[in-house]
Amino acid sequence: LDLRAEDLKTLGELGAGNGGTVCRVMHIPTETVMARKIIHIDAKPTVRKQIMRELQFAHDCNSEHIVSFYGAFTTEGDINICMEYMDVGSLDKIYKKNGPIPMDILPQIAYAVVDGLIYLYDNHRIIHRDVKPSNVLINSSGQIKICDFGVSGQLINSIADTFVGTSSYMSPERIQGAPYTVKSDVWSLGITIMELALGRFPFPADGTALSIFELLQHIVHEAVPTLPPGKYPEDLEDFLARCLMKDVDKRATPSELKSHPYLQNAMSHKVDLQGWAASVNSI
Ligand code: ADP
Ligand code: MG
Repeated sequence: LDLRAEDLKTLGELGAGNGGTVCRVMHIPTETVMARKIIHIDAKPTVRKQIMRELQFAHDCNSEHIVSFYGAFTTEGDINICMEYMDVGSLDKIYKKNGPIPMDILPQIAYAVVDGLIYLYDNHRIIHRDVKPSNVLINSSGQIKICDFGVSGQLINSIADTFVGTSSYMSPERIQGAPYTVKSDVWSLGITIMELALGRFPFPADGTALSIFELLQHIVHEAVPTLPPGKYPEDLEDFLARCLMKDVDKRATPSELKSHPYLQNAMSHKVDLQGWAASVNSI
């Protein structure tokens, strides 16, 4: 399938993030609704071509916990990425509208993200690099999928050159300049799951507003956040503790997390994800 801008009709805007805008579009020839992400980057034509080449690898990423890739093309100075549209939306919007994620749903989400990360790394040596609630998407079939993973090294570099790439989900070692590993994704997963359980971003513990610089300092130097004692399942507390080890050597790998009791117990219980997806106020 060869995607072209002329064949896409914009149906509405889904949101904007650091460097991109995402719209819901209709691909007229196939009558497929897609999400179109437009990323403006300042890069030379050769760099753009390399990005386009690298993005094609996303075609090979096929897993039930990964948002499907339909194709990419360039328009003027922009990179366009078309992907599967997830009609219930992202978890940041869902919890902000509906409150904390229910305790029976949360381990299903954690499992999907862990499984998606393992798939990307084991099969494609891809580290996600941007795990956060807005990159975990839900559809009305009750499927949970991750998006916006780092398929193109050149796109990552170009975005970093064009925008300030600081994220409050970044691990302490990343803030201090260490290279990305799968364990950096595990930290971001821990912050994400804690945020979904609390219904607010976990740093700082007392909820005071900090500048992004103060926040990053805080993440590096202060104690790791924990859930309020006695209010959450113990296996969730332990799961988060395994994700939020500042010492990278002590932090769990995605595969270790997959066999953690929090996820194993969740897998032995059937949960009506479709019913939950139908009940949330979305988009
Ligand atoms: P960020 O992830 O930092 O919020 P993005 O530009 O990646 O910024 O996405 C903007 C918003 O668009 C997201 O918050 C999400 O709600 C929505 N979105 C992104 N991709 C999709 C998709 N495939 N299906 C539905 N909504 C999406
Ligand atoms: Mg995103």
